[in-house]
Amino acid sequence: MKDYRYLKTESYDEGQIVKILLNRPETRNAQNRGLLVELEDAFLEAETDDRVRVVILGGVGPSFSSGHDMGSKEAREDFAEIAARDPSVGEGATLPGREAPWRGEWHHFLQNTLRWRNLRKITIAQVQGKCYAGGLMLAWACDLIVAAEDAEFADVVGTRLGMCGLEYFGHPWEFGPRKAKELLLTGDSIGAEEAHRLGMVSKIFPNDKLDEYTLAFARRIAQIPTFTAMMIKESVNQTVDNMGFYNSLQACFTIHTLNHSHHGELAARAAGDGRQAGGWKQAPPVLPALVGRP
Ligand code: ZN
Repeated sequence: MKDYRYLKTESYDEGQIVKILLNRPETRNAQNRGLLVELEDAFLEAETDDRVRVVILGGVGPSFSSGHDMGSKEAREDFAEIAARDPSVGEGATLPGREAPWRGEWHHFLQNTLRWRNLRKITIAQVQGKCYAGGLMLAWACDLIVAAEDAEFADVVGTRLGMCGLEYFGHPWEFGPRKAKELLLTGDSIGAEEAHRLGMVSKIFPNDKLDEYTLAFARRIAQIPTFTAMMIKESVNQTVDNMGFYNSLQACFTIHTLNHSHHGELAARAAGDGRQAGGWKQAPPVLPALVGRP
């Protein structure tokens, strides 16, 4: 695998298993644009290598991913660099109005996540610590999710940004419709056990065994003939697509864009501060969704 600035990669068993690790631990692996561009490269690199059977997607440090980078200095710099190099896909591109950010989100949040979901390899997300908002999209793009005991899943964009959910709206499919509404309306989190009960997470491993056990799990899956593995993946993905998954994602992306436009209009009228409608910087800690607590 190539050298990446924001990723770390490892290879096992003569290249049969590749591990791609988000490598911005100081930001809890917040996803800046450069990281997402590199992730697309790394997935493509694994996809086009016939030796690779399973790809593990993980994160360096205490958390899998805290979500999209909301404007760190590093993120602003690499955003400007990418927008200068490829303005048609960068937010802040030359196109007026909502079009530039719409194109940016379509490329970098919706279409790339869909491509990774349809990657011609079996993928496993290895999640420890926080998996918030944009972090969910990366985990959901994978075929399987394994969690450390301390894993915590939440989409906080409703309560903190005044947004109706992520660009890749997997929530009702992953949580179930009512739980999706509850978690989006409260911003509460679920732990590994609840995620397992909902069928979103396949395995829960102790934190200090997460790497070892995930690799062992990947090795079992790597035994399956590659074409069989792909046809299993394709059968399930096509079933879900026929149930409306693909079209629902497109519809919800449009709704998401409407929600951004609403905040844009408020900001233009100086009636609010746009994307930060929920005041995310002052937001209290995320709480676990406990059944007996209001
Ligand atoms: Zn958005």
